[in-house]
Amino acid sequence: MSVQKMKPNTRIWRQLLVQQRRAFSTSPRRLDNYAFIGLGQMGYQMARNLQAKLAPSDNVRLFDINKGATEKLAAEMKSQQVGGAAFQVSESAADASKDDTVITCLPEPQHVKSAYESILEAKLAARPQPRLFIDCSTIDPSSSREVAAAVASALPDGQGSFVDAPMSGGVVGATAGTLTFMLGAPESLVARIEPTLLRMGKRVLHCGPQGAGLSAKLANNYLLAIENIATAEAMNLGVRWGLDPKVLANVINVSTGKCWPSEVNNPVPGVVETAPASRDYAGGFGIALMRKDLKLAMLAAKEADATLALADKASEVYKEAEAEERCKGRDFSVVYRWLSGK
Ligand code: NAD
Repeated sequence: MSVQKMKPNTRIWRQLLVQQRRAFSTSPRRLDNYAFIGLGQMGYQMARNLQAKLAPSDNVRLFDINKGATEKLAAEMKSQQVGGAAFQVSESAADASKDDTVITCLPEPQHVKSAYESILEAKLAARPQPRLFIDCSTIDPSSSREVAAAVASALPDGQGSFVDAPMSGGVVGATAGTLTFMLGAPESLVARIEPTLLRMGKRVLHCGPQGAGLSAKLANNYLLAIENIATAEAMNLGVRWGLDPKVLANVINVSTGKCWPSEVNNPVPGVVETAPASRDYAGGFGIALMRKDLKLAMLAAKEADATLALADKASEVYKEAEAEERCKGRDFSVVYRWLSGK
């Protein structure tokens, strides 16, 4: 593990700030030490914002199984001239998780389970305040509850809590620090969690107890998956009937068919200049992530015995579209290209 050296002028500046803060502090500081695990497309930007917005007396430990990602982020943080917390590069998830608050942002349920297995195996020492684990990954609520139960049994008597805080806003929102978090946590923890999330986003929606954030996120993304296909179909239909796609979109957007895919992320190139469709479907919300979220929603629906009449067909549509080279790796609105054959 290596503690990064600060530039001399930065160190003096930080010391002054720390002294000033201590002088004005009326109660002991909490949540000073963080770990951020999973520095991919989202986590990298979130950790960068968190570190930049924390006080100089705070500390962030960084870990990703991809050493290159950790080193790149540490170098970027080091190059910042002023402000921000101190930071350390950790050698393992367990090593990073020594302190009070651990944030994870990992791809799929198996990655979340394996990271927490290794953290909990390390037999975490007692801390002055209960440990808090905030998982921002999009996984299924059952897997999340499993991990929460493992944390509760490894850290009994309220010594640790695991909460879910999946997010929306994509890489653009993660970079700008404007994410929306859907929080699943006991009411009593919300005030402790919110300030941390608001350093990486602009909104925290408390959805209910642990697991509820993921349920809300998956229900929303299920709706989005269907609306996107339906918009692509309706637009394709209109174009085949000879309608100008901009005229059709204007009609839909003041009528009952209006939705985010018709208004903001219209799948037909040229209809909305800022939409991924107008730049060859580059950027945006990747079709692979949409498939993943749809799969998780279907799994969670099965467990709740909820009928999703359109899910199998939608899943097939995304699978077939993604299998085509001209659609792979692009924004999920690329289903229009697949449908229209263009
Ligand atoms: P990503 O694949 O870019 O990054 C995941 C990172 O986790 C990688 O750097 C990987 O090396 C690391 N990792 C994997 N297993 C690990 C382990 N055991 N310990 C430490 N690090 C490990 O994924 P992403 O796009 O950053 O997404 C992260 C989560 O956020 C996913 O669940 C995704 O569904 C969700 N999400 C993504 C977006 C988006 O637009 N990318 C938007 C909303 C939500």
